[in-house]
Amino acid sequence: LRIDPISGRRVLVAEVRAGRPNDFLSNPSKGPSTAARDHDECPFCRGHEAQTPHSLLEVLDEAGQWQVRVVPNKYPAVSHAVPDKSDPGDDLFAYEAPLGHHEVIVESPEHVRDWNRLSSAEAARVLRVYRDRARWWSNDRDTQHVSIFKNVGSAAGASLEHVHSQLVALPYVPPNVATEAVRAATHYATHGSCIFCDLIEKELAAAVRVVAEHDQWIALAAFAGRQPYETWILPREHSARFELLSDGMIDSLAVLLCDLFDVLGRQLVPLHYNFLLHSAPVGGEHDAAFHWHWELVPRSTKLAGFEWSTGMHINPLSPERAAAQLRCVV
Ligand SMILES: [Zn+2]
Ligand SMILES: [Zn+2]
Ligand SMILES: [Zn+2]
Repeated sequence: LRIDPISGRRVLVAEVRAGRPNDFLSNPSKGPSTAARDHDECPFCRGHEAQTPHSLLEVLDEAGQWQVRVVPNKYPAVSHAVPDKSDPGDDLFAYEAPLGHHEVIVESPEHVRDWNRLSSAEAARVLRVYRDRARWWSNDRDTQHVSIFKNVGSAAGASLEHVHSQLVALPYVPPNVATEAVRAATHYATHGSCIFCDLIEKELAAAVRVVAEHDQWIALAAFAGRQPYETWILPREHSARFELLSDGMIDSLAVLLCDLFDVLGRQLVPLHYNFLLHSAPVGGEHDAAFHWHWELVPRSTKLAGFEWSTGMHINPLSPERAAAQLRCVV
């Protein structure tokens, strides 16, 4: 883990990742899978368990067959197996040990590409695994933050198309979550309230960016969304940490997410997206000010010179129009 001397940017140099298999390399615009052909080579399909490291957790059906499987990432970006001699660097060229744990959650034994092929009961089973692994790592004494994310489609950085997601447990709070936590803490100090709860209240009153509304959940077109249709999903009741989610809440979340992916899949063809969990840092210090949420970022436009140069995004579709379009399709 290197820290850029000029910007302070943190970069993981992980050459092991270059060896990953890639379903998309020969045909970057590859659409929905042709299951029969792809199954033969896919390390995540049932029957190919020997191609991945051993299972850390398996959810079995009544017949004893796994339905969801968690394995260590074979090509980890971070690792607890740190070399004995790591270069401490100096004040200009600073290194940190690339510590952490990197897991893959295989979300179905069948070679399906996305959640639009899962029932809401199957999606709920996956969400329960997310929660249980997040809970496991939040009890680990070295872990400060648990990230769960999903890359679907080559434009979102996926290398394998079989439905899966990843979990990274880190011994520090990563920059994007740290920035949100600091801004939330500042808002809490100033207003005595959670910035996300305030946001939900205002969005419900304005009703121009609400994509879907449920007793327990709200889906919003992000006010300053980076990409067309960027949508945030938040629990309506204040809650800082995803790992405390109840089974009942998971069932209703699964229904909402399946509907949302279905709607987005009709609006954007093919639908490539990143799905990112932002949960409060471990330890409880942020529990009053932080409010956990999913950020669903469809990847229909590429990051180009403007974004790389300025660190700002250009979104060619207003979030208000995006919300209106998604509501129409619901
Ligand atoms: Zn597969
Ligand atoms: Zn809140
Ligand atoms: Zn966030």
